[in-house]
Amino acid sequence: MVKKYYPTIGLEIHAELKTLTKMFCACLNDPDEEKPNINICPVCMAHPGALPVPNKKAIENVIKVGLSIGENNIADFTEFDRKNYFYPDIPKGYQISQYKFPIVSGGHLADFDVTRVHLEEDTANNKHDRGDFSLIDFNRAGVPLMELVTEPKTFDGADEEAAKSASNFAKELQLILWYLGVSDANMEKGEMRVEANISVSSDPKILGTKVEVKNLNSFKSVERAIKFELDRMVKLHEEGKENDIVQETRGWDDGKQKTFSQRKKESSHDYRYFPDPDLPKMKLHEVFDLAEMKKVLPELPMAKRARYKKDFGIKDEDIEMYINDYILGLFFENVCKNFEFNKEKVKIASNYLTSDLQGLKNKDKFKSGSTWNFTELVNMIYENKISSRVAKDILAMIVIADESPLKIAIEKDLLQKNDEGALKEIAKKIINENPKVVADYKGGKEVALMSLVGTMMKETKGSANPQIAKQILKNLLS
Ligand code: ZN
Ligand code: MN
Repeated sequence: MVKKYYPTIGLEIHAELKTLTKMFCACLNDPDEEKPNINICPVCMAHPGALPVPNKKAIENVIKVGLSIGENNIADFTEFDRKNYFYPDIPKGYQISQYKFPIVSGGHLADFDVTRVHLEEDTANNKHDRGDFSLIDFNRAGVPLMELVTEPKTFDGADEEAAKSASNFAKELQLILWYLGVSDANMEKGEMRVEANISVSSDPKILGTKVEVKNLNSFKSVERAIKFELDRMVKLHEEGKENDIVQETRGWDDGKQKTFSQRKKESSHDYRYFPDPDLPKMKLHEVFDLAEMKKVLPELPMAKRARYKKDFGIKDEDIEMYINDYILGLFFENVCKNFEFNKEKVKIASNYLTSDLQGLKNKDKFKSGSTWNFTELVNMIYENKISSRVAKDILAMIVIADESPLKIAIEKDLLQKNDEGALKEIAKKIINENPKVVADYKGGKEVALMSLVGTMMKETKGSANPQIAKQILKNLLS
């Protein structure tokens, strides 16, 4: 009998918050600063006697995240703790974090329950790639860092599903951070960092030994690392070597697509947390109007998906594109308003925005501009004034220059020619100029007719209605 294994996954996600200044000092929080050690001061350099002052905006941002993923989950009382830490990227010897009283407790997102969201300070950047010495850049030291921890979730067997669920959670969190405008959460830049706690058990009621996988800097890595680790653990179980699974921290090697052992995990006991005496205790309900904050939250991805589905009735892939590309979604909505949600036109508009527009270079500028040219283009397509070939050409033109599609079509003589008389004259001319193709067709080669239709489309710059052109040629040659 094949044994069944139950994977359990828990996630810890750090995200740098987008604030003007750092978490406990007035230094700029500028992730784009390239010159090292520019945005620094005695507080974030850990000079003795320097005192931290909490950044209210950073606390507000974490509250917004909490309000977005749950109800009544914002702490009344919160405080900062010292977490012992002995590495040169925090020379204080401790990281300011939160332990017993995080800002957010509880919540739910995608497939996971959320345990907590707390606030801490980011470390400096170590640079080990310069030679036989290391350098430290303190620009990032003390940048507000949000940490979200999920409850472990046990999946019913399928490894693929567990891995997908985890990366999907990270994606949903990134969207929420974007929508709230609290973090750019770019994983490649390390602005959002995912760690996964992974275990496997043959009994869903008993947790197996867990490992923690770090260095996951893309959604693909999250998915692949979890899948790899689950496969590794199941294999050890199958070989009767489950005792070889030890509690440890493992890294993900993106090149080799493998996890590797880094170090044995210290327990939270080793961190010797205690409340930071330099920082005030806070009563959040006294400082923030939480009901009002909840009321003015922007529309979040889940609500937007549901609304798009209901209002526009477009494909899920299209909706997902608008959810991920907020500006494109806004453009699409405004276009639809222009023609009062006519279902056919909505469909045409969405098709061109999610496919043809995507290949065009100037699309970013276009989608943040006026919607009127594109609306006119959709109307022309809907009214059969232009062929789809011409529509694509005109789209490419209006993306570059702010011009009326109708004006372009008239000037360049691109309006669809359904006028049989005019098309017949052009067809006669083409038949005269292409005796060999005509002979091929008369000799039984069906494809030769399509070649003549093609020549006719070229001659009319795509403005001939191809069905009518084909019929006219057929009649003339019969
Ligand atoms: Zn500073
Ligand atoms: Mn942390």
